[in-house]
Amino acid sequence: MVLVRGGRIITEVDDYVADILVDEGRIVAIGRKIEPPAGTEVVEAAERLVLPGCVDPHTHMDMPFGPTFTCDDFTSGTVAAAFGGTTCHVDFCMQQPGQSIPEALDAWFEKLRVAPPVVDVGFHVAVTDLSSPARIDELRELPGRGITSFKVFMAYKGSFMVDDAGLLQTMEVAAESGSLVMTHCENGDVVDLLVRRAVAAGDVSPRHHLLTRPPLVEVEATARAVRLAELAGAPLYVVHVSCGEAAAEIAAAQRRGQAVWGETCTHYLVVDDSVFATDDFAAARYVFSPPARDRSEHDRLWDAIRAGTLSVIASDHAPFSFEQRELGRGDFSKIPNGAAGVEERLLVVHELGVRGGRISLNEMVGLLSTRPAKLFGLYPRKGTIAVGADADLVIFDPELRLSIGPESMRTRCDTSVFDGMQVTGAPETVLVRGIPVVRNRELVAEPGTGRFVKRGAPMLGATPARVAAEVAR
Ligand SMILES: [Zn+2]
Repeated sequence: MVLVRGGRIITEVDDYVADILVDEGRIVAIGRKIEPPAGTEVVEAAERLVLPGCVDPHTHMDMPFGPTFTCDDFTSGTVAAAFGGTTCHVDFCMQQPGQSIPEALDAWFEKLRVAPPVVDVGFHVAVTDLSSPARIDELRELPGRGITSFKVFMAYKGSFMVDDAGLLQTMEVAAESGSLVMTHCENGDVVDLLVRRAVAAGDVSPRHHLLTRPPLVEVEATARAVRLAELAGAPLYVVHVSCGEAAAEIAAAQRRGQAVWGETCTHYLVVDDSVFATDDFAAARYVFSPPARDRSEHDRLWDAIRAGTLSVIASDHAPFSFEQRELGRGDFSKIPNGAAGVEERLLVVHELGVRGGRISLNEMVGLLSTRPAKLFGLYPRKGTIAVGADADLVIFDPELRLSIGPESMRTRCDTSVFDGMQVTGAPETVLVRGIPVVRNRELVAEPGTGRFVKRGAPMLGATPARVAAEVAR
């Protein structure tokens, strides 16, 4: 048994001081002055916050991108996750061209086997090739295997992109099987045209990544995904919303009563497009999609978060070292897209959100833990602190100071878009199902402590619009 003693427990709705008793991986009691049975391991949490483990619904471990792979596998990536207070993440199993869905899953389970995780892991399936009708039947089988969300890329023409017919078909399967469709919203045909034009004109520096993916290609695709989801009668989750105008498309759908949710990512709240005000190749470290936007968008995203338009802040952890980015020297379109962030997410959201006075601690827990757990079928096992829930607990020291950089973060990635950021407040000890994974900021777990989690149906409950209407009444 484990006793977490005297911490200030923060859930999406609660804030109180109590002890938490854990047995066989689950919370069995919460109360004042619990007397632990002999042999109980005691974790002192006085003067600390106790948060439910963060749930990151958007990571890419060991993901192929062109000729390379993201530089964290499930072991190194989940060690980083654990230090950042994330005790469960949902990774994208990427179907390769010509592959069946079961073959794609076999490949992802193999990645877990060769690099066992230290935190719990679920899978989404990213559908990239629907050329055989058999794929549709295979998607129908996924909820039975604990996979209740499908991702579709509207961008990356020639590799991951699926056309509108494929998107609609995926949405139809989701609607009938009670799953959630996630969309990467950028108009891939238009981006492809703009990229080809730029490269032909000799505009090949990383700056042209920004210039060939303007906000309107994201806004247009967001609006299209929303309307196709309406046509299919499917719930929709829009990943990595980067700007206020795309969020406005989601808000409009929510006001119509449509079941649409939005996610933004940590880096969209930190990085702005001034990093591309140079033709220097060093800007390659900031290449992710959609790209960083004008600085004014940071406030618009926080507004959308506070309004409930955006329900989740994810990491979109997709680390590529600077050496890997060299693939795009001489052609920006070959720079692998993505940024590390699985460890930084809670640190940055606490710093900018809570310490910055933009959101409460309860709202932070909602954005990073409870809402992703609900939307991706993990709640109430994960996403809260309650009797019967998994003892995924973060003992968070609100006074601990950290400087974010390659030396202090556990990812294998040597370049971070958050480098140099100073934060106050960080996880001190992290438990996954009651097992200490990080203790006093030391790794104390073996690879394999984490498990694959079968997820249930998304808990969509009321749409954001219905909730707003209830509150207004
Ligand atoms: Zn992603």
